[in-house]
Amino acid sequence: MEKAMDKDTKILITEIPGEWTERTRSGHTNIWNGKNHDRPHRNGLPEVRLEPPEKGLYAERIDGAWYWVSGCNKCNGEVGKWSYIVCDAHNVCICCGTHRSQLTDTPWGTRDGFNCKPCQERLDAAAKAEALAKFAEAEYDDSDFEYQDECKCPHCASAIHIETEDYGDKTMTCEVCDGQFELTLNYEVTFSTKVIGERVSA
Ligand SMILES: [Zn+2]
Ligand SMILES: [Zn+2]
Ligand SMILES: [Zn+2]
Repeated sequence: MEKAMDKDTKILITEIPGEWTERTRSGHTNIWNGKNHDRPHRNGLPEVRLEPPEKGLYAERIDGAWYWVSGCNKCNGEVGKWSYIVCDAHNVCICCGTHRSQLTDTPWGTRDGFNCKPCQERLDAAAKAEALAKFAEAEYDDSDFEYQDECKCPHCASAIHIETEDYGDKTMTCEVCDGQFELTLNYEVTFSTKVIGERVSA
């Protein structure tokens, strides 16, 4: 495995004039004066695309010149923050450290990187077992699943977040225990009134 990058990496990009300011990114590729579909950039300058000399570096304009600098948060010591790009050494499963190039199945993306499929399956199984064990201990009855502030799985009591735009009566599958259940939205009736015509007064 390659070693992590120095977070202070600063390599002058000799190909790009320091006056250029329009730089976009597409994956690891840095694009100056990017074309809009097939039309040249409105600034009239030619489009130039460069791959960084090492994965995890990206181009940054510093004091009027372009440099390759580290964009991998793990190299930079910024833990827990999502990284737009990651260096080769850190392109590994968070749990077991398997490199992405060694994976045989599509990994699960997470906030901090990715979990390989076997690790994710292990985490899911552990979460399910834990939820079901808690459920068995808690002695719930049906009323614990009626008129609740949140959608709570009746198999394992996990709270399932539902976006407002997805509100509706439906059959659901719990993402923790895989149990199926029926969701019904309850509406609380409230009353509003407004005077018609002249207000009746004393
Ligand atoms: Zn890194
Ligand atoms: Zn793993
Ligand atoms: Zn459940």
